[in-house]
Amino acid sequence: MNLSFDRECCIGCGACVEHCPGHVLAMNEEGRPYERYPDDCWYCGVCQVECPEDCIRVIFPYLIR
Ligand code: SF4
Ligand code: SF4
Repeated sequence: MNLSFDRECCIGCGACVEHCPGHVLAMNEEGRPYERYPDDCWYCGVCQVECPEDCIRVIFPYLIR
């Protein structure tokens, strides 16, 4: 997992899925985002910035901190 989603605050707008340049994210059957291709994430932080509800935190791996 590269991201932490706050499920309580997510409104299911899809902005994170739409703006991820790596097409890492998708919406599940409940209308909430999940990491469909986690290995393709390069920690750019766009999803975190674009979330209107501030529900996403990118979890940086130890080696690139
Ligand atoms: S950090 Fe960047 S590449 Fe990773 S899921 Fe978010 S927008 Fe996509
Ligand atoms: S951008 Fe934020 S509020 Fe919208 S679907 Fe993604 S996590 Fe949920």
